Amino acid sequence: MAGRGSDPPAGAINPGVRKSGFMARVFIGLGSNLDDPLKHIQSALDGLAKLPDSTLTKVSSLYYSRPIGPQDQPDFVNAVVQLETRLTPEALLDHLQAIEARHSRERKKKWGPRTLDLDILLFDDDMICTRRLRVPHPEMHHRGFVLVPLNEIAPNACIIGHGSVSTLLEEIDTSDLSRVTDT
Ligand code: AMP
Repeated sequence: MAGRGSDPPAGAINPGVRKSGFMARVFIGLGSNLDDPLKHIQSALDGLAKLPDSTLTKVSSLYYSRPIGPQDQPDFVNAVVQLETRLTPEALLDHLQAIEARHSRERKKKWGPRTLDLDILLFDDDMICTRRLRVPHPEMHHRGFVLVPLNEIAPNACIIGHGSVSTLLEEIDTSDLSRVTDT
């Protein structure tokens, strides 16, 4: 019998959902340093909690950090979350970029100020190197504003090729970070 209405053809797989159907454990880094960063981070957390085929399972504290690169810009607010998801990495990136776009995110200059930045840090133990995605995120192992919040929610997480989050933290200076207390 022919398929009904909008049903996918037999055997077709929604390209946004992993074929195995298993949940992946994913860590996402959030950052904002423009136009009321605390508001942008809070609203991004709301957006992440509503992602399809996903559950937001852990949220770190928020931290203020000094910008890397150009110093003539405001401090950042950063956080890291853990998401359990059936989405593929690419579909998840699409959703994150849609959330960024809703926050008037424009890609201007590298390391410049931004209303919202969402990065896929780890996707299970997968190593991904495509035109759009590099996971583990190539800079995360030496960034205090990633490692400190990540250590809070997943100290035993391992960054392939670099080691555990808690061990990496012992090797870097995190004195420019302070926990946000006014939320
Ligand atoms: P940014 O300006 O730092 O937000 O970089 C955005 C670009 O990085 C996008 O074009 C993404 O396709 C690419 N990208 C590569 N790896 C990642 C990742 N792990 N998480 C998010 N974006 C990534």
